[in-house]
Amino acid sequence: MKPQLWKIPESSISKKDIEKRNEELHLRLAEIIKRYKAVKFATSLAAEDMVITHAIARSGVSIQLFTLNTGRLHEQTKAMIAKVKEHYQIDIEELHPSARDVESYIGQFGLNGFYESEDAKKACCGIRKVNVLHLALTKADAWITGQRKEQAVTRAELEFFEDDLERGIGKFNPLFDWSEKEVWSYLSHLEVPIHPLHRQGYPSIGCEPCSRAVKEGEDVRAGRWWWLQQESKECGLHVQESQT
Ligand code: SF4
Repeated sequence: MKPQLWKIPESSISKKDIEKRNEELHLRLAEIIKRYKAVKFATSLAAEDMVITHAIARSGVSIQLFTLNTGRLHEQTKAMIAKVKEHYQIDIEELHPSARDVESYIGQFGLNGFYESEDAKKACCGIRKVNVLHLALTKADAWITGQRKEQAVTRAELEFFEDDLERGIGKFNPLFDWSEKEVWSYLSHLEVPIHPLHRQGYPSIGCEPCSRAVKEGEDVRAGRWWWLQQESKECGLHVQESQT
């Protein structure tokens, strides 16, 4: 018998409670804009990021959206970028890795060298994500992420605000205290577009070769870099300078 895959949790929080959470989220975004002028939001188009995208688009706050098109995304993610732009009539800037860096990576490790060693995985995420993010944030005062405490052991200490020490700018996690149930209830009650891979057993979505569906009961990030231990399941985008 085929194992059951993870399923999108049913909407178990009342619409009234979600509306309260939505108001609070709008206030959090307003506070960010009050404190910083040039604020950017890095979206992966997955569930948490769609909550924030919806709140930004509906509240009209001046926050620029961008996404890291690593060159290894699922076709469904590329289609989702176009869909969300159309749905909300917003711009999502697509940022690509340097062709020279990619060529040099492939020369040294091979296209899929990340399966072979932690160094090769770090180098791939470095050129396809971290460097590109770094460039995207050079003119920003602050940035926003969709991270939540509950998502991983590596995120247990997450707060609303943290100093991005590496870049010398602010970093906000407006969903830091949200539960998985709240995220899915929000998306359902407010009719937010959902990435199609969530309906195919993917609670978390990254690059195509490094993400896969998970079984019911598995950790929600078990499908990300599935060949690695839990503690290694970050790509370097959210690692504080003091932890590297
Ligand atoms: S997630 Fe995988 S393919 Fe994407 S940048 Fe990292 S190692 Fe490379």
